[in-house]
Amino acid sequence: MQLHDLENLLLSKGSQQHLLHQKADAIKRQSVGKNIYNRALIEVSNICHKNCYYCGIRKNTDLLRYQLSKELVVDLALNAYENGFRSLVLQSGEIQSSPFTHYIASILKEIAIRTRQNMHVTLSCGEQTRQTLQEWKQSGAHRYLLRIETSNIGLYHKIHPCDQLHAFEQRLETLKHLKELNYQVGSGILIGFPFQTIKDLAKDILFLKSLDLDMIGLGPYIEHPDTPLWNHPSILFSKPERLDLTLNTISLLRILCCDINIASATALEVMAPHGRSAALSAGANVFMTNLTPDMIKSQYDLYPGKNSMALNTPNFFFCINDWGDSLHYLKRNNQI
Ligand code: SF4
Repeated sequence: MQLHDLENLLLSKGSQQHLLHQKADAIKRQSVGKNIYNRALIEVSNICHKNCYYCGIRKNTDLLRYQLSKELVVDLALNAYENGFRSLVLQSGEIQSSPFTHYIASILKEIAIRTRQNMHVTLSCGEQTRQTLQEWKQSGAHRYLLRIETSNIGLYHKIHPCDQLHAFEQRLETLKHLKELNYQVGSGILIGFPFQTIKDLAKDILFLKSLDLDMIGLGPYIEHPDTPLWNHPSILFSKPERLDLTLNTISLLRILCCDINIASATALEVMAPHGRSAALSAGANVFMTNLTPDMIKSQYDLYPGKNSMALNTPNFFFCINDWGDSLHYLKRNNQI
């Protein structure tokens, strides 16, 4: 598919959009099957040393910070295991420190021992050194999600500070390390933020394809009043436009990268009550159930409305008792 085809398809509406989603759904069913992998999600810490301009848990906010105890995270994971989950996501802000490295490693080891390595774990803990990523892999992590947010470096620095801590090149380097360490590697983009164009999104799709990923997690931009990016309402796509762009991007990525796992982002439900189920009909095959304790959830304040969502996903074949590994990864490792 050429750039201009992608630009046209990204703007699909009405019957053209319906056909696009149908095609992606058919390719999903042929390539990875009809099952939706349901993963348990625990937001282990909202401490972050970065200052991304769009994020509600960035360093420069007054938010109350937490880090769940190792014991609580392990208890939550084992509770999920007893309830049938075989796939877990541990998410946090980005902290690069030895205590944090050790904290995650000890959680991974404990979960591996207590479940007899029968729970596959995805980490989403930001950029880390190769050494840390290696330690976490050896401790039992299977998958890692690190979104690039955009493939346009100029745009990247419109939504991140221009300093060493927020270097685009470092993000790509970390993705390279994840591949070398044989993680199942995921990345993704933010859709519909101020200054982003349809051409940018089309280029992002081609860039994500070129990364040869195992998983993709992408979501619509949701403006947060406590962030610098809040100040651009006049150049913002409307919420329905952001929803459509996200769904169309999912479909196009499914068509271009048929055997990967694609998540239906929780942020979609903030755009519309049917947002997540629409993504599952448009090519996504991964769903997340947030098991972070209710008292804590509100402090993982990535965007407004995140914690007030009702589960709205009828008519899908949810599958929790499966590791839900990426078929693409298994193929590139000659495991099938
Ligand atoms: S997007 Fe991630 S790295 Fe950036 S401030 Fe938010 S949690 Fe931290």
